[in-house]
Amino acid sequence: MQKTRKLNDGNSIPVIGLGTWKSEQNLVGEAVKFALTKAGYKHIDCASIYKNEPDVGQAFKEAFQTVKREEVFITSKLWNTEHHPEDVERAYRKTLSDLNLEYLDLYLMHWGVAFKKSGENLEPLNKDGKIITDNVAVKDTWQAMEELVKKGLVKSIGVANFTGPMLIDLLSYAKVTPVVDQIELHPYNTQDGLIEFCNYKEIAVTAYSSLGRQGADREGPRLFDEKIVENLAQKYKKTKAQVLLNWAVGRGTIAIPKSTNPERIAENIDIFDFELTADERNDLNSLNKNYRFVNPASWWGVPYFV
Ligand code: NAP
Repeated sequence: MQKTRKLNDGNSIPVIGLGTWKSEQNLVGEAVKFALTKAGYKHIDCASIYKNEPDVGQAFKEAFQTVKREEVFITSKLWNTEHHPEDVERAYRKTLSDLNLEYLDLYLMHWGVAFKKSGENLEPLNKDGKIITDNVAVKDTWQAMEELVKKGLVKSIGVANFTGPMLIDLLSYAKVTPVVDQIELHPYNTQDGLIEFCNYKEIAVTAYSSLGRQGADREGPRLFDEKIVENLAQKYKKTKAQVLLNWAVGRGTIAIPKSTNPERIAENIDIFDFELTADERNDLNSLNKNYRFVNPASWWGVPYFV
């Protein structure tokens, strides 16, 4: 298995990165420093909505005293209240300043929907508890993101949580093809069709929630309880997390497992010394039930994936 993958604009992305969603502000800095300086990570996934970018930025400042910035791939994401074209560059520069960086390797549109600006409230709900959207076309937001590339402010741009029809529309006008679609992927939600479409359009796919989320706030089925995952872990003398990450990378996607625990951070990148067989991958694929751990219907009062 290759450790990096070429993007459609010629840049390269390491196939394992560290996720930072729900990484507590007091823990994320040490996690990022450990990942970069001790565990061999070259890829960190951030977002302004995670509300920990200043903590990650402090860690970058310290880590980049010994690690070379240009050897690390850093992603962040434009939040839904910043979709107005005139807001995009300001939001991007705020993230750069929070992260203590001069450029990002990748800037993603976090979701293909604009929310009404509402002061500090980044997910404004109406009196019925439903999200208040704004009338900004994805096209206008994407064109503002393309400007960031033209101005040399960011290396690559992409999207997250885009479905097939959303990508088809975007590609009809995009002058810069998104390099990545970052989506939820694990054996309970394999999204084979969307991956096939992305391969056809040379859009790399980043898998989020590859471990099926393990935090205390998680709900739903447990990948770690699946017999097949346990059997494969035993066979290869690896952990269940390593089996799931090997499956993700082995099918050509990029994985960004989140952890703030040093042992687990090290474990999650130690996945390159074994390879599942085609039959084993099929066994894992057969767990698919299109189950989403990240389903905004519960936060925004209306479904997004329709
Ligand atoms: P995940 O990586 O599947 O799971 C994270 C959970 O697993 C944490 O509770 C972590 O706890 C635990 N964990 C990590 N390594 C482990 C191991 N080796 N053994 C057992 N448990 C382990 O879920 P995720 O955070 O949803 O997804 C990963 C990243 O993808 C996010 O952090 C974020 O950067 C990105 N993401 C993006 C979007 C989007 O909309 N674009 C949505 C969701 C996620 P500890 O920290 O205690 O180890």
